[in-house]
Amino acid sequence: MSGGSDKNAKTAPATKLVGGGRRAEWTGTPDHPHSVVNPPVWRASTHLYPTEMARKDALKSNQDGQFFYGRRGSPTQWALAEALTEIEPGAVGTVLYPSGVAALAGIFLTVLKPGDVLLITDNAYDPTRSMGLGLLKQFGVETRFFDPLDLDNFPTLICDRTRAVLLECPGSLTMEVCDVPALCAIAGKAGLVRIIDNTWASPLGFQALQHGCDIAMQSLTKHVGGHSDVMMGSASAGEAFYPALRKTAQALGHVVSPDDAALALRGLRTMDVRLERETQSALHIADWLQSRDEVAEVRCPMLSGSQGHGIWQRDFTGGCGLFSIILKGGSLANRAAFVDNLELFGIGYSWGGYESLALPFDPKPYRTAMAWPPKGTNPDNRLGVRLSIGLEDPQDLIDDLAAGFAAMENA
Ligand SMILES: *Cc1c(COP(=O)(O)O)cnc(C)c1O
Repeated sequence: MSGGSDKNAKTAPATKLVGGGRRAEWTGTPDHPHSVVNPPVWRASTHLYPTEMARKDALKSNQDGQFFYGRRGSPTQWALAEALTEIEPGAVGTVLYPSGVAALAGIFLTVLKPGDVLLITDNAYDPTRSMGLGLLKQFGVETRFFDPLDLDNFPTLICDRTRAVLLECPGSLTMEVCDVPALCAIAGKAGLVRIIDNTWASPLGFQALQHGCDIAMQSLTKHVGGHSDVMMGSASAGEAFYPALRKTAQALGHVVSPDDAALALRGLRTMDVRLERETQSALHIADWLQSRDEVAEVRCPMLSGSQGHGIWQRDFTGGCGLFSIILKGGSLANRAAFVDNLELFGIGYSWGGYESLALPFDPKPYRTAMAWPPKGTNPDNRLGVRLSIGLEDPQDLIDDLAAGFAAMENA
């Protein structure tokens, strides 16, 4: 969905989040434009035409924001897509997908063809990795993994069949911050399509298209939804890729429910304040964790001294509540005792909700281009726990983590 209101165009992101997608015709009637705040939930499969001529015109033109049939969306989905486009500088449109993984599939199926090679960062979200090794392989695409911190080696991995690169910054679980502009410059020179999974930062924290990426993907399930009750994904792009992404999504029959779009739109309105609060709390908690004997390393891009903090400061305009710790030695039983004894942190997948979560992880099976534990570190320090800091009081979360550590020592 492309477009956007002129009034909103020059405002700061926080203001765009409030105004985005609230077109007069989506929030009122011709006699009473803007008569409600939120675009209503338009539940529609059939759209009706005043005449046979109008039906033929709509079929032919296939434009955003035009009634045609429910699979191309209705104003609720269009409002969400338009709001997402407005907060992504450089984008002309945004395609919505039923999940973040569906967004990645939609992007890959748009830009790749049999015989192509896809480069995926070695610290990508694991289902992305599995898609490369499974689904894409089935369609004749070869996936190769690379270490995003090794800029010298990166150009040597590009061959004449390489078509696209998928970045993720910071990487999943281990949180390495790579130099996106540098990697994009190299990839661009070789003619690759530069895709980024920008779920961690969202466009509020990292303006991906402004930093050299061609397609910016997000799992809206995380920060945009923000309340652990909706699954959705998106891809935003400029003129070079948006029309093709949209065409593939239509061919695949990808459409999101208007109820889910309304939930995501509601989450989007408060995303700026949630991210700001989560970032402050995460930084406070990360700093405390750094002083604990049980913790070998805190991997949090916002934390001074953490790997990649300098690049984060240079390129990012915000953070979030998601970071990881690596335990000092310890056994799987110790780690299980730690997370089992947390009362305020749930154990579960996903993140970016209002509630805190803890997820134990062992990256070794998901890494082939990067060593785990990293070279030059103590091999005993290899067990990780990813924390998603929610909106609880940060001191309560610290007290909870302290109780978890006490239980871990006694395990
Ligand atoms: C969760 C996640 C996804 C997948 O999103 P879903 O909406 O759960 O399908 C993709 N990338 C990253 C980095 C994620 O954390």
